[in-house]
Amino acid sequence: MIAPEIASPAVTRHILKSFGLHASKRLGQNFLVDGAVVKDIVAAAEIVAGDRVLEIGPGIGTLTQGLLEAGAHVTAVELDKKLPAVLAETLASYDHLHVVPGDILKTDIRALMENQPFKVAANLPYYITTPILLALLEQHLPITHIVTMVQKEVAERMIAAPGSKIYGALSVAVQYHTEPRIVREVAPRSFIPAPEVASAVIACRKREKPPVEVEDERMFFRVVRAAFGQRRKTLANALLGVGASKTAVRHALEEAGIDAQRRGETLRLAEFAHLANVFFAGKRDDGQEANA
Ligand code: SAM
Repeated sequence: MIAPEIASPAVTRHILKSFGLHASKRLGQNFLVDGAVVKDIVAAAEIVAGDRVLEIGPGIGTLTQGLLEAGAHVTAVELDKKLPAVLAETLASYDHLHVVPGDILKTDIRALMENQPFKVAANLPYYITTPILLALLEQHLPITHIVTMVQKEVAERMIAAPGSKIYGALSVAVQYHTEPRIVREVAPRSFIPAPEVASAVIACRKREKPPVEVEDERMFFRVVRAAFGQRRKTLANALLGVGASKTAVRHALEEAGIDAQRRGETLRLAEFAHLANVFFAGKRDDGQEANA
């Protein structure tokens, strides 16, 4: 049996050596070796006994162990084919662990979690952080909390306010669906191998409903993508990316009371919503005229 706490450099090295494992750069493997960080993730996820948790990339079971100790029922999706056998040993003494081999981006998460409320906890592989976060947010899954380790720079983008250089489509998506806060920063020495960048734990509590009235979410995110797709351009030009004519864009900006010379990165959520609602109403009216 392996020593009780995996989250230490000595135990992690021991596990890697005894299973002949080498951290794979390609799979974004940086194993957490800092027990205090594991505790902070578990606390930020507000785990109580019986909570259903999806863990993405359990690795050798470091965070998984913290979650199981807190009484969570963990479903852990791991892409590295070598690791399920390792987890079967490192976490042999725990019930309530279901390891699912596979790629999280190809997993039907709703079906896996049986469409019942769940929390997400992870030390994410950094090469696919944004696609994973967007997949979790956009599918309207019954998630209550997402608590993850990400690059510090990504955490800062997630909480960025309008007007800042790092405010972008990810900030809008995260803040539209959740209330994010940075729990703590994490130094490279908290991992084996140490990543080249600083990290942070971010906790996103899912909102019951979005903070702004949006008539059509697809249109909302189309507008957001267009506005940030051409960051240097004024809204008058960038919004042509929505697929509307120059006149329609001018009209929509006027109707929403937004200066056409502004840039997307200055728009608050409410302004994106207002603009998207005007575009949506225009599209609906066009449709009605065409049907008349
Ligand atoms: N949770 C462990 C820890 O904290 O030490 C490992 C974290 S490591 C940063 C990321 C983990 O995600 C690795 O175990 C890696 O094999 C796994 N992974 C990488 N890509 C994945 C994918 N597409 N789907 C599921 N797991 C993936």
